[in-house]
Amino acid sequence: MRNQLSRMPALFVGHGSPTNALESNRYTDAWRELGRSIIAEAGTPRAILAISAHWYINAAAVTAMARPRTIHDFYGFSDELFAFEYPAPGDPDVAGEIVEVARPVWVGLDHDSWGLDHGTWSVLAHLFPDADVPVIQLSIDATKSVGEHLALATQLAPLREDGVLIVGSGNVVHNLRMLTWGRTDGFDWADRFDDAAREVVTERPGDVASLTSHDDFRMAAPTPDHFVPLLYTAGLAAAAGDRARVTSFSEGATMGSISMTSYRVDD
Ligand code: ZN
Repeated sequence: MRNQLSRMPALFVGHGSPTNALESNRYTDAWRELGRSIIAEAGTPRAILAISAHWYINAAAVTAMARPRTIHDFYGFSDELFAFEYPAPGDPDVAGEIVEVARPVWVGLDHDSWGLDHGTWSVLAHLFPDADVPVIQLSIDATKSVGEHLALATQLAPLREDGVLIVGSGNVVHNLRMLTWGRTDGFDWADRFDDAAREVVTERPGDVASLTSHDDFRMAAPTPDHFVPLLYTAGLAAAAGDRARVTSFSEGATMGSISMTSYRVDD
C-alpha cells in the first residue's frame, strides 16, 4: 500500500495570531485553498508532522498519544478561542516511525506532556477543517544549533515519500516587542529580512543558515522559536535537491513586525 502514496509537499506557514483559527481572512483563505490543492494533487496525507514555534523545549520529542489534547497556550483572547478544539487523532505508530527515521538523531516519545498547540491547530483548522488526518508534533529542541536542525530535517525527508505532510509553523519575522496594532504592513527592516529570506528559501534553500548573519536577523528573530520551523522546511527542500520547487504565498508583514510569508515545497 505504502508505495502507492505520492510524495507529499512540505510547508512553512506563517501562523500569526491564534485568532486566525476562528477568522476568515486572506491568510485563512489561502490555507483552505492550500489544503484542497494538496488533497487534489497528492492525496490525503497519511499523517501530518507539525513543527510549531510553540513547543520549544530542551529536547527533541514527538507527541505519541492517540488523542492529543488541544492546548490553549496564550493569554488574553476570547472565551470562544479558549473553547476551540481541534480533535484530530494522533498516531503512535507514525510517531515511532519518526523516531526511527530520525536516527542517529535522538527523538523521544512524548506520551503525556504536550498535544496540539495553537501554532499547529490555528493553521490546521483551515488546512484540514475536518480534523480527520492524524497529527504528530515535533518539538523544537532549543539546545540544537542551526546545523543540527538542518541535519534533523534531512533525516525526516523520507517521510514525505511515505504520505506524511511536514508543516513548519512559525513566522519568518516575529518581534512582539515591536508589534504595532493597526498597522497592516511591515517596518522597513522586517520587509528587508522577509525579502532576503524569500530569495534564499525559494532559490537556494540549502543556504538558509546564511540568514542568521543577515544585518536584520536580530530584529527579525529576537528569539529563535518562530524562525526555526523555517529551517526544517528549507532543509527538506534542500534534501530534495534539484527536484525541489519552492513557492511563496501570503507574502509580506503585518502589524509592523510579523511576517506572514509562507512556503510550499514540491518536487
Ligand atoms: Zn506563534
